[in-house]
Amino acid sequence: MIKRCLILLCLIGCLGSCKKEATPEYRVPAEVEPYVQAFVREAKLRGIDLMIDNLIVEFAQPDANYICGMCNGVKARQKHIILGIQEYCWKEATPQTREGLVFHELAHCYLARLHTSKKFADGTYASLMNPDNTEVYSVCLYPIDNGNDCDKRSRRPYYIDELFDETTPPPAWAK
Ligand SMILES: [Zn+2]
Repeated sequence: MIKRCLILLCLIGCLGSCKKEATPEYRVPAEVEPYVQAFVREAKLRGIDLMIDNLIVEFAQPDANYICGMCNGVKARQKHIILGIQEYCWKEATPQTREGLVFHELAHCYLARLHTSKKFADGTYASLMNPDNTEVYSVCLYPIDNGNDCDKRSRRPYYIDELFDETTPPPAWAK
């Protein structure tokens, strides 16, 4: 009788550990996939080989309405990104803003990047890892004038460099 109990306990123990080591899932909506691929590509261009096969991305209502994204499982094998269902977060956002949001969350999940509020002298955020603006290299949604502030796409290379290397020096446009 005692022997049988021991066998049963062992079986439960094995099942428990098998579950823990389950193969991580990859489940990313088709409209988000190109941005994940772009992130892997940008990493490779900078000598970083990223294997992203353990990611779940879901659209959902985040804890607060002003939050457009979050990465769960920073230290876990299975990464889980929530993207806000609020219209301004994705549906009404420009491709650059969408990319900025996905890259920001992927940097939390895969590069262990934290938030930084560092700014340049002109007040612009120095990193895409700032806590509240993923439009740092975007265009205006409804341009009302042709001011320089409306098209920041040329700033993208700097922000992507900085994302993968925090020691990237400030760009010419920030001086
Ligand atoms: Zn963040």
